Amino acid sequence: MSEPLGAGVDEEPDSLGAFPRLNEAQRARFRAVGTLRDVVPGELLFREGDPNYDFFIVESGAVAIVEGYGHEQRVIAIHGQHRFLGELNLLTGSPPFLTAVVRDPGTVIQLPVERLREVVASDEELSNTILRAFLGRRSILIEKGAGVKLVGSRFSSDTQRLREFLARNRMPYHWMDLEDDEEADKLLQVLAIEPDETPVVIGGSGVLRNPSNAELGAVLGLGSRGAPPAMCDLVIVGGGPAGLAAAVYGASEGLDTQAIDGVAFGGQASTSARIENYLGFPTGISGSELAERAQLQARRFGARLVVPAQAVALTDLDTHFAVELTGGAVVNGRTIIVATGAQYRKLNVPGYADCEKAGCIYYAATLTEGMTCRDDPVVVVGGGNSAGQASMFLSKHAANVRLLIRGESLEKSMSRYLIKEIEEQAGIEVLFRTEIVELGVNGEPALETITVKDLASGEQRRLEAKALFVFIGASPHTDWLSDHVAMDEDCFLLTGRDVPDEQLERWNGERPLFLETSRRGIFAVGDVHSGSVKRVASAVGEGSMAVQLVHQRLAAPLN
Ligand SMILES: Cc1cc2nc3c(=O)[nH]c(=O)nc-3n(C[C@H](O)[C@H](O)[C@H](O)COP(=O)(O)OP(=O)(O)OC[C@H]3O[C@@H](n4cnc5c(N)ncnc54)[C@H](O)[C@@H]3O)c2cc1C
Repeated sequence: MSEPLGAGVDEEPDSLGAFPRLNEAQRARFRAVGTLRDVVPGELLFREGDPNYDFFIVESGAVAIVEGYGHEQRVIAIHGQHRFLGELNLLTGSPPFLTAVVRDPGTVIQLPVERLREVVASDEELSNTILRAFLGRRSILIEKGAGVKLVGSRFSSDTQRLREFLARNRMPYHWMDLEDDEEADKLLQVLAIEPDETPVVIGGSGVLRNPSNAELGAVLGLGSRGAPPAMCDLVIVGGGPAGLAAAVYGASEGLDTQAIDGVAFGGQASTSARIENYLGFPTGISGSELAERAQLQARRFGARLVVPAQAVALTDLDTHFAVELTGGAVVNGRTIIVATGAQYRKLNVPGYADCEKAGCIYYAATLTEGMTCRDDPVVVVGGGNSAGQASMFLSKHAANVRLLIRGESLEKSMSRYLIKEIEEQAGIEVLFRTEIVELGVNGEPALETITVKDLASGEQRRLEAKALFVFIGASPHTDWLSDHVAMDEDCFLLTGRDVPDEQLERWNGERPLFLETSRRGIFAVGDVHSGSVKRVASAVGEGSMAVQLVHQRLAAPLN
């Protein structure tokens, strides 16, 4: 008889609270509402890609969590006595990435997700234990690359697009680079896929050949299910901290709320390795965890979160607004909150476009980038807090970090606590009065060297670098609004008192509310708002305040 899957594998230690054991009282609460059942080795409790799956607690015996069940059979974790199964997907309603197979015979408690929600809603400690475990498990899966397989060349822009989409949505995946992974070739041969059909995504639901983000998102179960309502009280465009805050407050205050995002909920904040200045988190919180928590919260209050859904145009239909999305779908709302944020600027130097195409230039420094650049020399450019945070984070993964700024010091643009941390970190060298002149690519092409110039002496030199991180300011995502609302000279949105009188012809002497744009019923919050301070806390504050004003506007006729 063959050995059961996971034989001889130890349970993972309970690092980061990802694998806690439930005590007798906690398990008794679940026993009271769930079903106790005996299980035997080889029995499947849920399978990768299942549209619905239950919550399980192991009373006795052990369960193996397996990637590629039935083929590669990679054991990711073992859950023994009193541990519970599942991951963040269970709460977001997405299919599981992995399969749960009984290893040792025993008994499990099984209950549907709705029951789990009811139990944890009345028990704060249990709720925190389970949420912390699920968030921790997601990070572990991302680090292990356990999930769908993405096979594609690092030089393909579609591979880059899919990698960004998966990473921004915090989807665990294993990337097999066609350029240097022999296993990738073998896998393509087995599946009879030609290299020119790549990139391909391989998972529980089969093979997707160069899918669009929307196709991949649908397979992974991202966003809301079911047809959208014909009309919403509030449509929020952009799902960063500002949009998510508006979704939480809008839905919790009884508004029929729909939030859409073109790439992933969480926005720029979710690309921040550690946010240290957000109220209530004295030891900091990772941007992705903040975003995941906010999404769960918004969904719990009944907000519809739809991703990927890129707004491309807006029409004012007098009684309401129609937001047109890529692909032609339309979302209708009586009021709109624009929370589309801003995008980081690029450098205009030779070699930049090639390096960007080759995936050697980054605008965020998260675990994904940290792993990609592990033990490589990297360069960070920019003098603000995001450049400082990125340098600190990368110094834990890269061989060395050089932080380039054009000015004489960091004092004007960076928080004091970060400057101190950078000064104390041996792995970071700060080069003042320095600008990039050229990026040197090798034959592949991939970044190899960065030529920099000392602005004081004019002297040039080459730095060895495999990756460049760019944090040099931003421009707003407002193209889709064309001339519907008043903007400042940089195309950030003007609101309230800042809207010039000549833009208010149809207002009959009235003025826009605070955070309301030059068009009644359209509000602007967060980084897209002219004069915003570009902080998570202010984005969240504006998102929540705008909902109060939406109530006022809904009570008064729009036109
Ligand atoms: C690396 C990094 C570190 C940072 N660290 C900190 C920190 O420590 N503390 C701090 O306070 N701030 C920090 N910031 C700044 C902070 O993240 C931003 O100020 C904040 O995210 C702004 O929130 P927002 O919701 O206005 O916009 P964003 O976070 O930019 O979100 C905008 C969202 O809108 C979506 N979108 C854009 N156009 C469209 C469209 N047409 N249709 C649909 N969706 C669209 C985007 O996909 C995005 O998800 C950091 C930023 C970065 C990049």
